[in-house]
Amino acid sequence: MDRLILWDVDGTLLTTDGIAAAAMQAAMRQVVGPSAPMERTSYAGKTDWLIIRESFPSLGGDGVAERLHEFIAAYCAGLELQRAALAARSRVFGGVSVLLEALQTTARQAPLTGNIVAAARIKLECTGLLHLLDVEAGAYGDDHYDRAALVPIAAGRAAARYGRTFSGPQIVIVGDTPNDIVCGKANGARTVAVATGPYSLAELAACSPDVALPDLSDTDAALAAILG
Ligand SMILES: [Mg+2]
Repeated sequence: MDRLILWDVDGTLLTTDGIAAAAMQAAMRQVVGPSAPMERTSYAGKTDWLIIRESFPSLGGDGVAERLHEFIAAYCAGLELQRAALAARSRVFGGVSVLLEALQTTARQAPLTGNIVAAARIKLECTGLLHLLDVEAGAYGDDHYDRAALVPIAAGRAAARYGRTFSGPQIVIVGDTPNDIVCGKANGARTVAVATGPYSLAELAACSPDVALPDLSDTDAALAAILG
C-alpha cells in the first residue's frame, strides 16, 4: 500500500454521455445566466470551479467563489433528477472495473477530479464504481479551481486517513487530458495518460506523461504503467 493512485473520472473511468455537462450548463444558466458557448474540449481536465470562472469572466474570481455554493446546489439538484438517465446512459470504459479491483490490495485509490465532490459521488454511484475508490481521500472541483492544487489536498486527506504520507512518484495521477498530466508533473507525481477522452494518444504523448495508453483494457499493461 505504498502508492496513492488518484483517478480522474470523466474520460478516464467513465463517460456520462453528456448528461452531466448538460446539467452543469443548466445550473450555470439558472444561477448566473447564459454563458458564452464553449469548445468541445473546453471542459476537459478543468475543475468545475474553473469552468464557471471561465464561463462568467464578468463575475470575477471572488464573485464566483462567493456564489459557488449556489451553483453546487443547483447542479446537484439537476444531477439527482437525472439519476435514472445517468445509470442508463453512463458507460464505464473497458478494463476499468477489473483494473480498480486488481489494485485494491496493492494501492490506495481515490478520485482526483474536476468534479465537485457530490457530482463525483453520483457519477461513481450510478456506474457501480463507488465502492472501489475512497472518496474521502480524494480531491475535487469544489476544493480549488486550480487542478494542480488538488494533488496536495488529496495527499493530505490520504495521510490523515491512512496514517502515512505519500509523496513524489508514490502518487500516481491517471487522467485523459493534458491538464491531468500537467497537474501530476507540477507535484512530482507519476503520470499515466489514457486516450479514452477527447485527446488522442499522440496529443497526450506530446505532454510527456510517464506512460500514455490508448485505453485501460489491457490490465497487465495498465498495471505496469501505473505501478512503474
Ligand atoms: Mg477527464
